[in-house]
Amino acid sequence: MPDRVHNFCAGPCTLPLSLLEEVRDEFVNFKDQGMSLIEMSHRAKAYDEVHQGAMQLALSVFGAPDDFGVMFIQGGATLQFAMIPMNLLGEGRRAGYVNSGSWGKGAITDATPHGDIYTAWDGAGSGYARMPGSDEIEILADTRYLHVTSNETIGGIRMVEWPDAGVPLVADMSSDYMSRAIPWDKFDIVYGGVQKNLGPAGMSIVFIRKSILENTNRDLARYLRYDVHHDKESLFNTPPMFTIYLVGKVLGWMKDKGGLGVIEQEAAQKAALLYDAIDSSGGYYSSPVETACRSHMNVVFRLRDEDLEKKFLAESDAAGLVNLKGHRSVGGCRASIYNAMPESSVRVLADFMSEFRRANG
Ligand SMILES: *Cc1c(COP(=O)(O)O)cnc(C)c1O
Repeated sequence: MPDRVHNFCAGPCTLPLSLLEEVRDEFVNFKDQGMSLIEMSHRAKAYDEVHQGAMQLALSVFGAPDDFGVMFIQGGATLQFAMIPMNLLGEGRRAGYVNSGSWGKGAITDATPHGDIYTAWDGAGSGYARMPGSDEIEILADTRYLHVTSNETIGGIRMVEWPDAGVPLVADMSSDYMSRAIPWDKFDIVYGGVQKNLGPAGMSIVFIRKSILENTNRDLARYLRYDVHHDKESLFNTPPMFTIYLVGKVLGWMKDKGGLGVIEQEAAQKAALLYDAIDSSGGYYSSPVETACRSHMNVVFRLRDEDLEKKFLAESDAAGLVNLKGHRSVGGCRASIYNAMPESSVRVLADFMSEFRRANG
C-alpha cells in the first residue's frame, strides 16, 4: 500500500493531509484537558471554543450577510430534504423543485410527503445533461420557494447561473459547498452535507435567512425545528463534535489559503485540466454533459466501451489514482475534485489519461 493515494472519491472526500496530522497530534490529549475532544462534555469550555469558532468561520468564509444564521444539523443533506418542507410549507403554500438529476429527484421524493410539491423543470428530456435557464422554469401561484441542486454529483453538471424565479431559492449545495460565491439575496436557505467539500460525514450545515424563522413550523419534534436549532446555537442536543471540530479546521485552512475567491479560482483551474484532457483526446475520452454546465467538482467521462473503461479503472487504481469509477447508476468514470484535492493530484490524473490513451489507442 502506498502511504497516501490520490483519492478522487465522490464523498466522503479527501482532506488536507496537514489537518489530518494536526488531528492525530492533538487527539489523545486535546488542549491539555487530559482527554480527547470526543470524550468531553459538549458544554465544556474547550469544546465550546471549537463549536463557536466553526460557526463563525462558516459564516465568514462563505460570506454570509448578517441576516443569515448558520446551523449544524445531523442527518446529512438527506434529512434536509424533509426538514425544509416540514418547516417552510404551511396551509395553502407549495414548493417548486428543479429535477436536475439523482439528487434533485431525491429532494422531490423526500419533500412530497410533507407538502404540495411540484416539478418546476425536469431535466429528463435532455438526459440530465444540463441545468435549466430561468425562462424554462415554471413557477405556480402560492409558491413558497424553488428548490435547486447547485451541482449534480452523479450527473456531473452544475448550475452556473442561479435562476431568477421570483420566489426565494432553497439550494442543496452539498457537492460544491463553499467552492463559489453566491448571491445571498436570492436565497432563504442554503444547505449541504459537509462530507464532500468540508470535512468528514455526520452533518449538514444549513444557512437560513433569520427573518423566516418567525414563521417556520413549531408543530414538529424539536429536533426537526429550525427555530430550535437556531435558538440553541446547534447545541440543542449532543452535536457531532468530531465532525464540527474537523470542519472548523478545514474552514480555517480555506481562510488561510485566501478564502472563497481563491478556492473558486482553483476549482475552475483543476476542472479545466481534466476537461482539457478530455477535449484534446480526439474523442478517446468523452464528456456526456453540455459544455456550459460542466461541473467543477465531479468530472464525468466515458471511454469508447466498458471493457476499456474497466482497464482504465484497474490501471489507474494500480497507479494510486483511486475511486474513479462512475456512480453505479450511470457507469463510466468520475473524478471528484473537491476543495481539498491538490492541483498536483489532478495533474497526475491528467497525465495518466494521456499516457493511457497513447498506450491503448
Ligand atoms: C451526497 C449528496 C447528498 C446526500 O448527502 P448526505 O449527507 O449523504 O445525506 C445530497 N445532495 C447532493 C447534491 C449530494 O451530493
